[in-house]
Amino acid sequence: MRQETRNKGQTIRIWNTLTGKKEPLPVRKGKPLRLFVCGPTVYDRTHIGHLRTYIFFDFFAKYLRSCGYAVTYLQNITDIDDKIIRRAKERGEKPLALSARLTKEYLRDMSAFGADAVDTYAAATKFIPEIAGQVERLAAKGAAYKIESDGYYFDVAQFPGYGKLSRRTAAQAEDAVSRIDDSLGKRNKGDFCLWKFSKPGEPVWNSPLGAGRPGWHIEDTAISEHFFGPQYDVHGGGLDLKFPHHEAEIAQQEAASGKVPFVKLWMHTGMLTVRGEKMSKSLGNFITARDFLSNHSPAAFRFLSLSHHYRTPLDYEEKLVRAAEETLEGIRQFLGKLSFVETRTLKKFSKRLSLPAHARAWEAALADDVNTPKALASLFELIRTAYSVIWKLDPRSTRALRDFLISRLALLGIAFSLPKVPANIKEYAGEREVFRKRQQFVQSDALRKKIEALGYMVEDTPAGPFLWPKKRSTK
Ligand code: AMP
Repeated sequence: MRQETRNKGQTIRIWNTLTGKKEPLPVRKGKPLRLFVCGPTVYDRTHIGHLRTYIFFDFFAKYLRSCGYAVTYLQNITDIDDKIIRRAKERGEKPLALSARLTKEYLRDMSAFGADAVDTYAAATKFIPEIAGQVERLAAKGAAYKIESDGYYFDVAQFPGYGKLSRRTAAQAEDAVSRIDDSLGKRNKGDFCLWKFSKPGEPVWNSPLGAGRPGWHIEDTAISEHFFGPQYDVHGGGLDLKFPHHEAEIAQQEAASGKVPFVKLWMHTGMLTVRGEKMSKSLGNFITARDFLSNHSPAAFRFLSLSHHYRTPLDYEEKLVRAAEETLEGIRQFLGKLSFVETRTLKKFSKRLSLPAHARAWEAALADDVNTPKALASLFELIRTAYSVIWKLDPRSTRALRDFLISRLALLGIAFSLPKVPANIKEYAGEREVFRKRQQFVQSDALRKKIEALGYMVEDTPAGPFLWPKKRSTK
């Protein structure tokens, strides 16, 4: 198979929240891997907490595709929900107008951060018949029940597997902190709403269940069943959604279809936090994607996110972004030096650099539960090794090394453009070189100062003067 040659036969293993261990990627021969990731509830702007999760899954899909796997990546968008209705009311806007506007902004933000791996975005309101159909099936099977003038609820007591993902029982679901729908008529406190009957002024859809709108969890399974069928390969989302949202998804789909498991592999990203607290719309401690971009580059955020393992929390601080930007500038300058060495085809440049061991280290790290920090560490190790011989590298090694680094960084969504040094700066550097060789240091120092005053620094290297802008320009 093409994929096995591309990822050099390494078995990709992923931590499965459902089983609590690393397992081989559940691939089906000759068929695409079906990946579903929970999309946002669009009642406010995208923040960098969302981005942490979505950039990881963007990379994950691209990484698998780069190994030769076909991936069908589906994401829902919650465009109707209590929070949307509440926010629209506060703003004097129509709920569906608010969610349509914020969906557009979300898609724009994803694209601004280079997160373009999703094949299909599916908004809940476009799948009302599928949603109502699933609720009807659950009711027919006795897994759901109706509360008059309220809605349809899932009866967690009827689903023995409830709690298998989060390892919480239906009884433990009855705590005060979980986001579980309230209703006086519920059979069990952990029961969650599937279909809400309409209240005056709220968006409403007609259905055999009665006029109403979907509950929070049901759209995900109705949408994934529509595109993937009752069972599929990988489900992703943030750790905050493991309970009750993902637990509810399992209950809904397995109760509706009778097929187990609903999803083979569950992946959860760690939260982006601020001083230890989850960055969230409701806590108001968020930095929007847009605000982030007014000070920093998308590459800096991608690099910052992916230099942490996806399952660990990432406590956000401005200084981490600055450090990420400096590291990227260091890599850029290294690539600049490689291009510079490449133009010098002198005999003394004879050192060979072997890349296969580094390629293996990169591949092994990613195959081991997508360990991006370890994969990045292998690139830094390579750069360190190469730096010690950079002025002796033969042109073939230089080119191979540059391509090796650029292609791997591109997979992370990080591209570099090298600065163009203006002709007059190059001329001054050339004149300075003549003075330097003649040991006329006063004149050569004066030219160095002139070059610096024009915003460039000059480094005297065994390959000649290397020129580079003094100010970082990676933004
Ligand atoms: P929401 O709109 O709150 O449903 O979130 C959409 C997606 O972003 C879900 O997969 C969440 O788990 C994820 N998410 C929200 N906040 C954060 C955060 N602070 N860190 C990481 N992921 C988050």
